[in-house]
Amino acid sequence: MRYLKFLILVLIVAAVVVVIALGRDQRREAIFYPFGGIPFKVVAYDRSNAEFDADMETVKARVAELEQVFNRYHSQSELARVNEQASVAPVGIGADMARVLAASAAWHKLSGGAFDPTVGPLIELWQHAGKVGALPSEEEIAATDGRVGFGEVIFSHDGRIMFAREGMMLDFGAIAKGFISDEVVRLLQNRGLKRGIVDAGGNAVAFGDGRFTFGIADPRFAGHDELLATVKAGKGAVITSGNYERYVTIGGKRYSHIIDPRNGRPVGGELVAVTVIGGEGMEADAMATALMVLGRERGMELLSRVPGVSVLFVERKNEDWEVWAPMPLQPELAFADRWADKVHWYDAAAAQ
Ligand code: AMP
Ligand code: MG
Repeated sequence: MRYLKFLILVLIVAAVVVVIALGRDQRREAIFYPFGGIPFKVVAYDRSNAEFDADMETVKARVAELEQVFNRYHSQSELARVNEQASVAPVGIGADMARVLAASAAWHKLSGGAFDPTVGPLIELWQHAGKVGALPSEEEIAATDGRVGFGEVIFSHDGRIMFAREGMMLDFGAIAKGFISDEVVRLLQNRGLKRGIVDAGGNAVAFGDGRFTFGIADPRFAGHDELLATVKAGKGAVITSGNYERYVTIGGKRYSHIIDPRNGRPVGGELVAVTVIGGEGMEADAMATALMVLGRERGMELLSRVPGVSVLFVERKNEDWEVWAPMPLQPELAFADRWADKVHWYDAAAAQ
């Protein structure tokens, strides 16, 4: 009798363990819309519903905190305060901004100035041009000269920054979302999550063992949820930068939201989109934007100096579209049928 009771107890415990294990094995997904409507997605593979709900509460709080640091359109944000005051006196910055600034300095150097978060005045100039529907004049572009240039950001030893010129303005739009994805990954891992994906508006970072499948948006059908390809990859970033999104239209022509700091104009070459696969989110985000500015050929040269990442380039020559994909990634990449005859496999080892 006692033996039977024990057996029943063991069976009940086993059943409960199985139910919990099955519950944890399911894929959970949550999405919310910070930064003025950008979708922020979190996927977890080893959480119960209750655990995941609690995770999401802390994720939202951390993202809101980071928005208060990096959103320069928030008048109360740390970045707005820096932009307002750093021309006058040194401004103290927090640890999050200090890390993004340090990475920005590294990428500014590595990209030969193509990545430059001091393009703020140019972004404003071109956004305004889009609103009024007229191109800025040569004089207006030239007038930003003294106000753009990462070399004019002065770092003091006590962790404060200052602008050497009046009217300078930092914009972390090209790097902050990658950083925020990294931060949320770290937060989830600290909470005990083993495996998942964090995606801040198309800046995805996966963590944990095994392979993940990522969709890469098709720039020919932007905004229509069509995929150019899917790629299977291990943990790390999959981040796309493209001039098919967030552009302004002036006189029927599209102008990219990515600015070439060397001439003060939106990038307008054949390169339409770049996807960086691998590495940390912050690095991949900065790199994707830098590659958009550099173009494919000079971009390959940059690639040769950054180990551990793979890059996909999508180009458009009038009505002809081409993709440049690294050969080692061939088994992992599945292109949409309409792209199959447009793929060039490049020798990544030669590029490296
Ligand atoms: P992404 O979508 O990551 O390529 O970032 C584009 C955003 O970065 C733009 O909307 C601007 O806010 C900012 N940006 C534009 N051009 C540059 C540049 N050359 N270097 C750094 N940031 C830039
Ligand atoms: Mg970027």
